[in-house]
Amino acid sequence: MEKRGRLIVISGFSGAGKGTVVKGLCEKYDYALSISATTRNPRPGEEDGREYYFKTVDEFKNLIDYNGLIEWAQYVDNYYGTPRKFVEDCIQQGKDVILEIEVQGAMNIKSQYPDAIMIFITTKDADTLKNRLTGRGSETEDVIAKRLHRAFEESSIIDNYEYIVVNDDLNTCIDTVNSVILGEKCKRENNADFIEEIRKELEKF
Ligand code: ADP
Ligand code: 5GP
Repeated sequence: MEKRGRLIVISGFSGAGKGTVVKGLCEKYDYALSISATTRNPRPGEEDGREYYFKTVDEFKNLIDYNGLIEWAQYVDNYYGTPRKFVEDCIQQGKDVILEIEVQGAMNIKSQYPDAIMIFITTKDADTLKNRLTGRGSETEDVIAKRLHRAFEESSIIDNYEYIVVNDDLNTCIDTVNSVILGEKCKRENNADFIEEIRKELEKF
C-alpha cells in the first residue's frame, strides 16, 4: 500500500474538542502528531514540547525567517505554526502525521500538499460549543467571546474540507476520524504503485 506518509489536517472551532480527539486518536491508533510552535501562554498542565513549543514573539519570527515552519497563522491574539522538519521526516519515513491547526494554516497546507486529508471537527450545535469552551475554564470571557466570533468566521471555510465529523460521543468521534483516514488511504487513486507492483508479480502465473 502507500509508502509515503500522509498529512492529516484536523481543524475545528475552538472548544469543539479537537485536542481531546487528537490525543485519543494518537493513543489508540498509530499516528505521529506534529507539535506546533505558539506565542500563547501555556494553560495549567501544559508542558513545553508536549502540547506546544512555547515561544516569544521574537523566537517565533526567527523561526519564520529561517524557513523553519511549513505554515503559520495568527489566531485571535497569538501566532501558531507547524515546524517543518518533523513533518517532512514523517512523510519521508512513511508515517502518517496529524496537524491540528486552524483554517488559514490548513488552506496553506492543502495548497502545498494537495493529497492532505482535510477533516473538520465540530460540536452538534453552537450552544454545546459555547458550553465546552466555557467549561474548559482556560480562557477569560473576553477571549471566549473572540474565539466564538472566530468560529462564526471559520464556519464559511468549512466548505473547503472533505470530511466533517461531529464530536458528540468522544470514542465514536475518535473511531470515525480513524475510519475516514483509512477509507481515504484505501482509495484506488492513492494506491497506483501498489497496483502496478501486484500486476507485475502476477505476471509469473
Ligand atoms: P479544542 O482543542 O477544539 O479547543 P478541547 O479538546 O480543549 O477543544 O475540548 C474543549 C472542552 O470540551 C474540554 O474541556 C474537553 O474536555 C471537552 N470535550 C472534548 N470532547 C468532548 C466530548 N466528546 N464530550 C464532552 N466534552 C468534551
Ligand atoms: P489553542 O490556543 O486553543 O491551543 O489553539 C488555537 C487555534 O490554533 C486552534 O484552532 C488550533 O487548531 C490552532 N493551531 C494550533 N497549532 C497550530 C499551527 O501550528 N498552525 C496553525 N495555523 N494553527 C494552529
